[in-house]
Amino acid sequence: MTADNGNQPDKRNNTEDERQFEKQLHRISRSRSHMLVCFYTLPLYIVALILLLNEGRGVTFFMFVYMAVYAAFALDMVLRKCPRCGEQFFVRILFLNFVTRHCVHCGLSCRPRGNGGSTDGGRHF
Ligand SMILES: [Zn+2]
Repeated sequence: MTADNGNQPDKRNNTEDERQFEKQLHRISRSRSHMLVCFYTLPLYIVALILLLNEGRGVTFFMFVYMAVYAAFALDMVLRKCPRCGEQFFVRILFLNFVTRHCVHCGLSCRPRGNGGSTDGGRHF
């Protein structure tokens, strides 16, 4: 049981819900950023792999670590659910769209709302 008998419990609940909503959107956005960093460092990974192979050194551990990080970030992204529609935020049918900032089901943006004002419709890359 809660002991709050405030004047406006609905307003308080709304604020708490909005905070949770923003928190989930922030986590989704962060998950996307992790995956993009991993994706954009792929050329560096390939160069490092070539350098290691040219030196005759083993690359098994290096490859394993990179693939494990990649898989962990991809799994994190796949498991993110949209706070509005409840579906997977980045996965539609079988394909993971890690570039989009919008829910692939309902179009909800994962950008923070505080700055700017475009709620939807604007495509930002
Ligand atoms: Zn959605």
